[in-house]
Amino acid sequence: MTNISMLEFNRIIQGAALAESAEQQVQLIVDAISEVIATDVCSLYRQNANKDMALIASHGLAQGHPFIIPANQGLVGRVAQSRHSINLINPDELADYYYVAGSNEEQFHSFCGVPLVQRGDVIGVLVVQSRRPQALAPEQEAFLTTLATHLALLLASLPAQLCQPSRPLLNDYRNGISGAPGIAIGRARVRRAAGLANAAESTAEHIEQELDAWRALKSRVMAELKQERHIVEQTLGDNLAAVVDAYQMLLDDPGFGAHITDAIKTGKVLPWALKLAVSYFSELFKAMQDPYLRARHEDIEQLGDKLYLAWRGHGPEVMAPEDGSPIILVGDQLSVSDIVSLPIDLMVGIVCSAGAALSHISIFANALGIPAVMGVGELSLSMGQPLIVDGDNGQVIIAPSDALITEYQSSIKSQQDVARRFAVNRDLAAVTTDGAKVTLMANSGLQADLLPGLKNGAEGIGLYRSEIPFMVRQSLPSEADQVAVYREVIESYKNKPVYIRTLDIGADKPLPYLPIVEEDNPALGWRGIRFTLDNLQLLITQFRAVMVAAAGRDDVHLLLPMVGSTGELNHAIELLDESLKQLLAEGKNVCRPRLGVMVEVPSSISLLPLWRNKLDFISIGSNDLSQYLLAIDRNNPLVGRLYDPLHPAIIHEILRIVRCAQDCQLPVSLCGEMASDPIAVLLLIGMGIRQLSMSSSKLPLIKWLLRATSVSDAEAFLTQALTMDNAQDIRAAAETLITKSAIYLDG
Ligand code: PEP
Ligand code: MG
Repeated sequence: MTNISMLEFNRIIQGAALAESAEQQVQLIVDAISEVIATDVCSLYRQNANKDMALIASHGLAQGHPFIIPANQGLVGRVAQSRHSINLINPDELADYYYVAGSNEEQFHSFCGVPLVQRGDVIGVLVVQSRRPQALAPEQEAFLTTLATHLALLLASLPAQLCQPSRPLLNDYRNGISGAPGIAIGRARVRRAAGLANAAESTAEHIEQELDAWRALKSRVMAELKQERHIVEQTLGDNLAAVVDAYQMLLDDPGFGAHITDAIKTGKVLPWALKLAVSYFSELFKAMQDPYLRARHEDIEQLGDKLYLAWRGHGPEVMAPEDGSPIILVGDQLSVSDIVSLPIDLMVGIVCSAGAALSHISIFANALGIPAVMGVGELSLSMGQPLIVDGDNGQVIIAPSDALITEYQSSIKSQQDVARRFAVNRDLAAVTTDGAKVTLMANSGLQADLLPGLKNGAEGIGLYRSEIPFMVRQSLPSEADQVAVYREVIESYKNKPVYIRTLDIGADKPLPYLPIVEEDNPALGWRGIRFTLDNLQLLITQFRAVMVAAAGRDDVHLLLPMVGSTGELNHAIELLDESLKQLLAEGKNVCRPRLGVMVEVPSSISLLPLWRNKLDFISIGSNDLSQYLLAIDRNNPLVGRLYDPLHPAIIHEILRIVRCAQDCQLPVSLCGEMASDPIAVLLLIGMGIRQLSMSSSKLPLIKWLLRATSVSDAEAFLTQALTMDNAQDIRAAAETLITKSAIYLDG
């Protein structure tokens, strides 16, 4: 076969797309390749978590048993290691030939393997073999290489179990995301939920009856949640009970209720109406940029499952342990109810197929000191399966060997001391070892966040994302609605400063009820202050509402998002002054809040000295600032791993901002994710930043770090970091300092 046309190529890819399952898809591909290039064998290997190459589909090789080529072994290993194709004859005469017993490979005398690469890493190998000792022609090899780029994308999206043998191997590692640190050894207690996803669409015969059923369901689940809160409060403390409050608030939210009743009124049955409402709000949260708020979509989904279970007549599922051995709770999307249904003293670890580091279940696990690994993908585990949960490295080890268990047991022992000290520091002030006080505040946007922030010692709200209450509604809130929301925020933080950011909508945070147009580059488009100045009635109402809510308080601040030019700043100031004038003319006892800008659009940096008399403070929005300085969309998974706020350019630029603020005597804080990254915090303290705002769950960690660090060490680290040209070296250098801090705490 000489010329392989694009037609053949498309036929293979399109034919496979019609397959009903992933297994069938890969099998169709290897069958088709072997036909097109007329070889006896075509095999697809996928690297598993152990870095071994597992055969996932083959045309021509006998595969009736687990077929694994150990990491870096054989010709397949050589292709993976060299990241280059190998095309040769008589492979069995080579020293690194690896024979899998029973595979029938001895019959084949040519071998061509090409690597499958995704984002710079080899994830598999495509191999063709023939009986005749004849190497592939160059155009055939080129064809395989082209096909391999497509296969890599497909392979990366296949379910994990395709790459694993059906029986659990000894020490079978699975990778996820660290949800809570620490190591646990125990037995799996698997939670299988028949969730709301299973609800089917059908038409309601009696709308009034469905509405009654909704009201009854709501009050029943509300009562269950109250009971759950009580249990959590008794067993885990008031602090964690606030998480259950979040479910209660969501259930009680008028927007959520209206969605359900509206759907029922259009003839939908209750479970379908629930499903529509849950997916609507879940999508809203998923679209949010802030990782903490984005993770809140799980709360909505868990509430939906809870409502659905209750509708089907099942109460909370109780999973009693059988033999009193330590429990590792394993599930798809676990909720607080799953935790409270188990004896808390036996629960040592959590593994969640879905979820992320900021899921509520991770926050719970962190607060309880229970190691957790999130997002491991589908695991088909049986009840009682021995597991190790390595929350530090985001790994789960299935069927660990005795030797591995002994090794992990000794790590657990040494970690217990550190954990004890961590808890003690949580209630103390954030003062460095050489006496510098750092103000630690919480980022918020949901009413449900207010309490956890206070409970974790927040000294104020450093960033209130006012767009969030707008996003969970179905129409614009009135001035009075807004006053009520802001008043609750301000009053929750008595005698503590609150920074309310004006609407930062647009781009990834659209309001469904406002006309936001499709844009080619939404992150560079009509968002933040650009949007609200074009719709200045929104800004005026919001300025008025904040001032009315803040009456009698002098510690409420207004923060403007995405300001990049003097014209924008002047226009916003003009509108603020006009709003104040209106309220005073109406006889309201209000005053002008302190005004600042988020420094997140790079063009604002050079203008700061010229704005010194217009501003009362600045707050660095490191999330957007990083995305714009690096020209990397922080939400695009293709480039996500390049998004690193420790990139030297960002460190230098933030230092420039801090120095400028110091020269202009403008108070400066930072409210992006960097504020909760320990290494970044050391650099920021070294620069002179003394106010940070972060997700409330991160406050204790950062307080612990600050109390163990001196400003002089942080300054020395900054000086060193400024000489480095890449983030990896900066991280490595930070290790010495963090170890020193840990030693300080060890006394
Ligand atoms: C930021 O950009 O750093 C920030 C705090 O704002 P947001 O994440 O809401 O865009
Ligand atoms: Mg921002």
